[in-house]
Amino acid sequence: MYKLKKILPNYTLLLYVKKCLRTAGRISRWFFKSAVFNYFIDFVALVFPRICLGCGRSLLRFEKMLCLQCLYRLPETRYHMFEGNPVEQIFWGRIKIERAASFLFFNKGGLTQKLLHALKYKKRREAGLFLGEMYGQKLKETVPFCDADMIIPVPLHPRKKRKRGYNQSEVIAKGISKVLKIPVCNDILLRKRNSSTQTRKNRFQRWKNVETIFSAKEQGFLQDKHILLVDDVVTTGATLEACIRSINTNPGAKVSILTIAYAWK
Ligand SMILES: [Zn+2]
Repeated sequence: MYKLKKILPNYTLLLYVKKCLRTAGRISRWFFKSAVFNYFIDFVALVFPRICLGCGRSLLRFEKMLCLQCLYRLPETRYHMFEGNPVEQIFWGRIKIERAASFLFFNKGGLTQKLLHALKYKKRREAGLFLGEMYGQKLKETVPFCDADMIIPVPLHPRKKRKRGYNQSEVIAKGISKVLKIPVCNDILLRKRNSSTQTRKNRFQRWKNVETIFSAKEQGFLQDKHILLVDDVVTTGATLEACIRSINTNPGAKVSILTIAYAWK
């Protein structure tokens, strides 16, 4: 018995030492693995540098799309917080909407233009998701935006979508949907024909250009629903108005508008 008592503490000590060694081994393995992983990430960053879409500087590991300075400089409108804001005023006397807001001001050569240019012409789809998610975070507690039943992106003509590889409004809508947990319905609204570019047209020409190019596919599906209509930019609102007119063929449908940029004319 005495012998057993003498051995027992040694045995517990042995178990304790063994446990310590195992933990130390686990920590060193984890440390080694993370060090190798970090070297690998740094190597990839050296070969394929991640560049800020705003200023072109290399991004730090925790930065996404924009560096902290550019993120801080984003020209936010905060219009979602104000009823009767300038985006809503575009539609006054033209068509009834619930609410409307844009995330950023659009300045020529500014940050917003660079971000949208990357999304539309440089195949940087992730820039749209990034913008959508960021806007979703801002809208999270803003009624009625966060209470909508579905999100509908402004459709692109199928030929244009094939050429670009995706619809930029749909990508933004997905980003917003991820945060607000509102489903995206991208097969309800159809673009019947491709419109010519709106850039050099005045307000009336823009309206005539898109007046009848949209149609809502399933009549009745949108009845009594609150829809968030999403587009990349709002200027004169002609495209959005044409979309709302085709949605309004469903009785009781309500529409709110969300765009990433607001470009005033
Ligand atoms: Zn930057």
